[in-house]
Amino acid sequence: MPPGTIAENVQRVQERIAGAALRSGRRAEETTLIAVSKTHPAEVIREAYQAGLRHFGENRVQEWEQKSRSLQDLTAATWHLVGHLQSNKAARAARLFGSVDSVDDVALARKLDRARAEIAPEAPLRVLIEVHLGDEETKSGAPESQVPGLAEEILSLTHLHLAGLMCIPPYLDDLERVRPYFSRLRELRDSLEARLGQRLPVLSMGMSHDFEAAILEGATEIRVGTALFGVRPGAQ
Ligand SMILES: *Cc1c(COP(=O)(O)O)cnc(C)c1O
Repeated sequence: MPPGTIAENVQRVQERIAGAALRSGRRAEETTLIAVSKTHPAEVIREAYQAGLRHFGENRVQEWEQKSRSLQDLTAATWHLVGHLQSNKAARAARLFGSVDSVDDVALARKLDRARAEIAPEAPLRVLIEVHLGDEETKSGAPESQVPGLAEEILSLTHLHLAGLMCIPPYLDDLERVRPYFSRLRELRDSLEARLGQRLPVLSMGMSHDFEAAILEGATEIRVGTALFGVRPGAQ
């Protein structure tokens, strides 16, 4: 559990972001902090919002459906789904979230597109492709070989806006060993941009223990839970 209040934890994480940005010759504002609030109650999200955060990540549709009821007044926030989405929950996700950061197959993308067409035809849903970087430890994400085809399909869906890529590398204590995963996601993004002739600015990579390494490799969004809110009850 980080010892501080949420406001203090936010400040500490922002200092770490600034430090990593400095070391990589980037500006701190180039990396958006997404506060991963899964398992934590709505009050905690409100506290983080009051401390200045505007992006939040949840990993379960149903949990967020319940918590979101008491947070409707936080209108400046963007709510990200960062966990695996089953296609039978796609319609609810398209209504409840401003971004689905974990799209990993064509059928899911099509369902999200159809749902969004009904819910908000004038406001495409932002999505990221979650890439499985070929390590057995991580289960979710599209295999690298399928990413170009999936990206082309999403670009053809008018109610989705493909903004970039996301990954969850294996949990490694040695940050030098995790960096190659982050650089691989960046290189994959670069080759996709060239192939599709389309900018894909977002790289969502890095969590509480490894986000500095991710920033050094070009992360534009980091997803941080434990360092802001403490250890989650039960392993998630
Ligand atoms: C839980 C979760 C995080 C946050 O992990 P921490 O180690 O607590 O910072 C980030 N991304 C995803 C996809 C998650 O499920």
